[in-house]
Amino acid sequence: VRGVVAVDGPAGTGKSTVTRRLATALGARYLDTGAMYRAATLAVLRAGVDPDDAGKVLAVVEATRMLVGTDPLGPTIELADPDPADLERTEDVAAEIRGPEVTLAVSPVSAVPAVRELIVAQQQQIIADVVAAGGRIVAEGRDIGTTVAPAADLKIYLTASAEARAQRRVDQDVRAGRTASVEAVMADVRRRDTYDSTRKTSPLRKAEDAIEVDTTELDIDGVVARLVELAEQ
Ligand code: C5P
Repeated sequence: VRGVVAVDGPAGTGKSTVTRRLATALGARYLDTGAMYRAATLAVLRAGVDPDDAGKVLAVVEATRMLVGTDPLGPTIELADPDPADLERTEDVAAEIRGPEVTLAVSPVSAVPAVRELIVAQQQQIIADVVAAGGRIVAEGRDIGTTVAPAADLKIYLTASAEARAQRRVDQDVRAGRTASVEAVMADVRRRDTYDSTRKTSPLRKAEDAIEVDTTELDIDGVVARLVELAEQ
């Protein structure tokens, strides 16, 4: 698909930050697909449903309406009020979806094949709308290059050592006012890596035609510069 840049990779590679900055530099829209799985997971938890109960999880996700804003300078994610009489009321859930409860439950929710089908279809629609309007979009996640936008004109796969990724997550949590130990975050990073890369549907995997960028030794500016260079080739 012309106009689409796919950025994939595991948690803690600085993916969100660099992808937003890449989109801003290119004058493109920005799609955070992880935020959509997180918002779906928040809806599941609020409904009191066990994240491992695939049938009930799917029912909640099917009934959930989410609104996704694609401005790279201020991406938004909202859940619509479940009351059908009040369809216009939406709630900004950007902060809540980054919390530990959602982070713990997001892997099993996003591993349900029918949940992925629903959310991938929404993602493809968002991308198609931008491209149809003549725009460009940078989409980030785990399966953009393989599943969501296999025909993207540029595919990037970000990696970094597990230690570097855990440290970045800790820094991010501290900035958000949450404290966390490197050990605990490292355990969580490894747990999600294993879960995300071994699930049956769309496991985390580098697309064959993706360019791998190892960010272990690079700071944010260095990664952004490298990606802008690739996107402008
Ligand atoms: O990128 P982020 O950490 O917000 O993603 C949260 C979780 O959502 C991931 O650990 C993964 O389980 C799931 N996810 C996914 N496919 C994507 C993006 C995220 O399965 N494209």
